[in-house]
Amino acid sequence: MNFASDNAGPMHPSVLNAIVDANTGYEMPYGNDSIMPRVRDKIRATFEAPEAAVYLVATGTAANALALSTYTNSWDTMFAHRVSHVEEDECGAPEFYANGARLTLVDGDGAKMDPSALRHAIVNTGDKGVHGVQRGPVSITQATEVGTLYSLEDIAALTAIAKEYGLKTHLDGARFANACAALGCTAAQMTWKAGIDVVSFGGTKNGCAGVEAVVFFDPEKAWEFELRRKRGAHLFSKHRFLSAQMDAYLTDDLWLKLGRQANANCARLVKGLETVKGAEIPDTPEANMVFAHLPRAAHRRAMDAGAKYYLFPADATLDGPDDDLIRCRMVCDWNKTEAEIDQLVDLLRG
Ligand SMILES: *Cc1c(COP(=O)(O)O)cnc(C)c1O
Repeated sequence: MNFASDNAGPMHPSVLNAIVDANTGYEMPYGNDSIMPRVRDKIRATFEAPEAAVYLVATGTAANALALSTYTNSWDTMFAHRVSHVEEDECGAPEFYANGARLTLVDGDGAKMDPSALRHAIVNTGDKGVHGVQRGPVSITQATEVGTLYSLEDIAALTAIAKEYGLKTHLDGARFANACAALGCTAAQMTWKAGIDVVSFGGTKNGCAGVEAVVFFDPEKAWEFELRRKRGAHLFSKHRFLSAQMDAYLTDDLWLKLGRQANANCARLVKGLETVKGAEIPDTPEANMVFAHLPRAAHRRAMDAGAKYYLFPADATLDGPDDDLIRCRMVCDWNKTEAEIDQLVDLLRG
């Protein structure tokens, strides 16, 4: 019963088999393997973007930091939500890769940037002339860090503001598949058709071992990205094994099927959580993750039986009054079984 994160599970058998299949003979290193052209074609087809520049890295942090830094001068600031991976979970990698550029935090409910807050942050940044940092790219996370979704109109509204000021836009799609599946839209609709310039297209959390694609819809900065990836030590020599994962992930829309499955698993979990006495679920879970406030006694029963998930704050203790509500996060990947979900719910219900 591990609901800690969607990267706690196994890789999908198709992805593992693709790695095994790729493990014969010799292949040119550093992205010149025979699988990568196929991956490039499939990404371009998936995103309906024949000109897109496509690169693979092994972590989402690398994808985000390298993508953002490509559009950031060292004297710029990158706009991101206060509750975003680039702010909270990357140890300053975006600032590091952008040679000391800053992050400016933008607020909004449900971990979604409020358009007027974004506009305010941008305007506020540009009015100090040489004394202030300059305006850099805007980074949006879809699905968000709390499992909510921007609608296509929400994304378009934010990118329109960015464009008004001549700023580039980045989509952190570590959970791109979950979002796309939930919205029932195409990859193109959720990115360039909504004004996104570069996307981190996640694989690791959705059935891969460790691969994310960085997709630039305008290839203008492609060479610069390649230099940054190499200089940042994220150009894999045995790149064929990244290519193999992404190839399998894109075959027959596996990425979308797994995202859909993970969402369905989470919906089942949420339905169960709603029946736990005293439970409160403030943000409507829209993808594969739920934040719930549950009584301490419920957590104690589940965790004593071996369930794993995060409590907030991190130092929350299971010793104390039974009825105190403690916030938790539970995430479902594609691999969860109904039995496992129901077992957790039964324990929480007591
Ligand atoms: C998991 C995650 C990432 C990538 O994290 P890595 O651990 O570096 O692979 C990026 N963005 C979001 C929103 C995530 O949840």
